[in-house]
This record gives sequence, structure tokens and C-alpha cells, in this order.
Amino acid sequence: MFATFKNVPMPDENGFFGEYGGQLVPPHLKAAMDGIATAYAEIRERPDFKEKLSGLLADYVGRPSPIFYARRLSRQLGGAHIHLKREDLNHTGAHKINHCLGEVLLAQFMGKKKVIAETGAGQHGVALATACALIGIPCEIHMGQVDIEKQHPNVTKMRILGCKVVPVTRGAATLKEAVDSAFEEYLKNPDDYFYAIGSVVGPHPFPMMVRDFQAVVGREAREQFQERHGRLPQHVAASVGGGSNAIGLFSAFLEDEGVHLVGVEPAGEGVDKPGRHAATLTRGRPGEIHGMKCYVLAGPDGTPSAVHSVASGLDYPGIGPQHSYLKDVGRVDYVAVDDQEALDAFMTLARTEGIPPALESAHAVAWAIREAPRMAGDEHILVNLSGRGDKDADYVAERLGL
Ligand SMILES: *Cc1c(COP(=O)(O)O)cnc(C)c1O
Repeated sequence: MFATFKNVPMPDENGFFGEYGGQLVPPHLKAAMDGIATAYAEIRERPDFKEKLSGLLADYVGRPSPIFYARRLSRQLGGAHIHLKREDLNHTGAHKINHCLGEVLLAQFMGKKKVIAETGAGQHGVALATACALIGIPCEIHMGQVDIEKQHPNVTKMRILGCKVVPVTRGAATLKEAVDSAFEEYLKNPDDYFYAIGSVVGPHPFPMMVRDFQAVVGREAREQFQERHGRLPQHVAASVGGGSNAIGLFSAFLEDEGVHLVGVEPAGEGVDKPGRHAATLTRGRPGEIHGMKCYVLAGPDGTPSAVHSVASGLDYPGIGPQHSYLKDVGRVDYVAVDDQEALDAFMTLARTEGIPPALESAHAVAWAIREAPRMAGDEHILVNLSGRGDKDADYVAERLGL
């Protein structure tokens, strides 16, 4: 289950990927994080846990997800062949269920009485509420009042799943305030509560643990591709918000030197417009956010910048510490795709293959659409289709006047 890079275990025992990561939290929280790290180290070796998780991934999530060859799209573009890892076909429609199940099973193993999290657009909230309903643990999701009004279908889903949705009305009443509010609730009783982080971010062990739970995507994809084509793809691409779907796919290919790995960040309205993009690795600097060291988009005083993307799952001013490390050592190329390219890719994939992608995933598809025509006819691009576009259909239709 460990991911390694050139035989170096990642992260080290203190949670560092090179200089990034760690546990930059006060002592009482460090104790809670250490407790989670210890419990995780124990369960991931236990056959009963592994069996339970892999059973649920198969019978509940529907794994393995297939790889689909986008024949019409590839023909239309000319050049490289584009293949899609279909995480959009998972129960709940995206990759997030993979790590939410792992985290909730861990909470159950630790005897926790409640799982707490924040959600912005509601995708993490719905995946977590789903896992909690399945395992049978109370779930409490904090969400900004502004987001509650914008993302009503997800709020309704969470309530149907039996989750307590806590509206946060302070300040701007969006994601940042929801994080603060959820954290305050967690700190009331870290012994009995489990804080479930929604990506490969936050203090150790979350970046490692969420990656390990997502690594199933890469393991499957590498084997499926090898089996079908007798070789590996030359290019592997995924969208990057916090970085969980990307690192899950990349993990299996890190040691394959011939495989070009591409993380696609949201350029929003342009990386030259401060506050109007979320291209953290393209425009950020090493800094601190949410208990970890990583690249951060921040003002001169270190406070995180406002961020924007047409894909609300990508607008985060930090990035997973392992991605920060992989950028510095040059193993992964990080590129940016703007809102318009993502919208175009959404429509193109819908109309050539009958697959409307999540706007997050559309960023990775857009990179493939941009690059495939410049590549040779024997090159293959594997794209992580991290989620389905149903949630974005109304927005896209309104924006494009359909
Ligand atoms: C949340 C989300 C993302 C971005 O999160 P990562 O942790 O970077 O993977 C990407 N795609 C979909 C469909 C999402 O829901």
C-alpha cells in the first residue's frame, strides 16, 4: 500500500515529503494526529481491514472502474490516443468515495462517535455522508450559508443520507468559515470525534493516508492499460485541486521513468489575475496552510489569497505536500488550463463520446485535447475522469445559453 519514489519511502516518519508536509499544529492537536497515524499504521496491515475495504470498493463503489478509449475524440483531434479512467462511474459519481470509505472505516476502528468535516461545493460532504450512512456513524458537515444556497442539491442529498448539515453564517459564510467552524467542533472532543479531510492536504498522516486510499485508481489503471495494450501510456494526466485524484493515479507510475505525468491546475480567468485563479504550483510559493508546509497562493503577509475556478472542487490556495515535492524534483509537470478551455472540453467530451465530465475533470481532458494533435499517432494519453458532470449541467447550460 506504500507509495515510494526511487525507493525512498514517502513521507518520512515525521510526515515530510522532502521539505513539505509535516504536522504544523499545536501540541494537543499533534497528539490527536499522532493517534490517527498510529491507528492507521495498525489497520492498514490488518487482513480484516484490507478485506473489508476491498470488498466495499468492489461491491459498493463498483470497482474496478473501466478504462474507456475515446475513439471519436481521438480521431477528431488526430495525433495521440486518449483513454479515460472512469472514476465518474463510481457510486456517488466521483473518486472521493474511495478515500471517504477508508477514513470512515478508520473512524469506526478507532471507536469514534462522530465524523466531522467541512464542505465547500458539497462534493466531499456527500461522499462522506454516504460512507457514514453505510458504516453507521453519525456525520456532521459544516457548510457556509452562501454555499448552502448555491449548492442546494448536495445539501438535500446530505440530509437524505442522515447527515447533520451545520450552516455557518459568520464572515463571508463560505469555505474558510466552514473550516473554522468544523474545527472548533472537532476540538471540543478530539478523543470521540474524527475530522475527515477531503484531499491529500492537512497535517500528517492525512496526505499519506488519503493518497494510499486513492492509490487503488493507479494500481488498477496501470494493470488494465498494460494488459490491453502491452505497454504503458506515454502520458498520464489528472486535475489537481488538493491533489487526491492525481496522486492516486500517479502513485502507480512514479517509478516508470518513461511515463510523463501531468497535473492540471485551474487557471480560472488567467494566472496573471491575482485572486481569479487557483494555480498554486504555477504561481504560488512555499508557505504554510492548514497544518502543513506546501506551495501556497498568498499575499505578502502570508495570508492565503482569494482563489477562483469554474470548477469549485479545484479552488484551493494550497496543494498537497507530495505534489509540492514532485514539482521541485521535476517528476511531474504541472500545467494550467483556464475556465474557458475547461468549459469547451466539457462540451467536446459530451458531444464526441456522450460523457459530460465534472468541470474539475474537464481540466485534465482539456490538456489532452490541447496536446494530442501535436503528438505522434502511436502515443497514448491516460486521463483521470475523476467525476461526472451531472452536478455541473445546469451551470454549463446557463453559461453557454443552451
Ligand atoms: C473534489 C474533486 C476534485 C479535486 O480534488 P482532488 O483532491 O484534487 O482530486 C477533482 N475532481 C472531482 C470530480 C472532484 O469532486
